[in-house]
Amino acid sequence: MISENSSSIIRSFLIGSEKCPVCGSIALTYLHLYQAPHNETVAIVTIKCDKCGFKYSTVLSIATSFSDNKCIEIEVSDPQDLRTLIYLSDNTTIEIPDIGIKVDLSQLRLGSIVTVDAILSYLVEWIENAQHIENNDEFAKTLLLLKSLLDENIDRKIKIVIRSDNGVGIINSYRKNYSRC
Ligand SMILES: [Zn+2]
Repeated sequence: MISENSSSIIRSFLIGSEKCPVCGSIALTYLHLYQAPHNETVAIVTIKCDKCGFKYSTVLSIATSFSDNKCIEIEVSDPQDLRTLIYLSDNTTIEIPDIGIKVDLSQLRLGSIVTVDAILSYLVEWIENAQHIENNDEFAKTLLLLKSLLDENIDRKIKIVIRSDNGVGIINSYRKNYSRC
């Protein structure tokens, strides 16, 4: 039994709003993530209407939902795309082909549920830590591009390719900015 007061809660997100099916006013949609036994991540999506009190929850087992999905390509061309919420399992590789970046998730300190901007900031940190090995113009350009994306100055769209044999998936996105690969 998973309760909303459970200590195993990882994070909660406000992911959007929709029309309340009872009274028709705006109801908010929340996503709560929990760590269930056997290391399974479970998401509970809750729709709540403050006006009439309507509440609906649905439970989603994330690892099971995404286990067949081995590769996902995300386009970042709008500030909203930075808030795309992604599930990453073990053995995940993150690649930005346009700028020649390819990193194993084990080299970054990322959790299993992350946003695109979290991935980009960890990549910035990773490049900055690697700079003492090979400090050159290419690195500087890449850093500048990643930092401008994080500042929501998106004048050049980029593609992020995420691969894992154990499954990857999009939990929430504000536009249809992804596809399977
Ligand atoms: Zn309502």
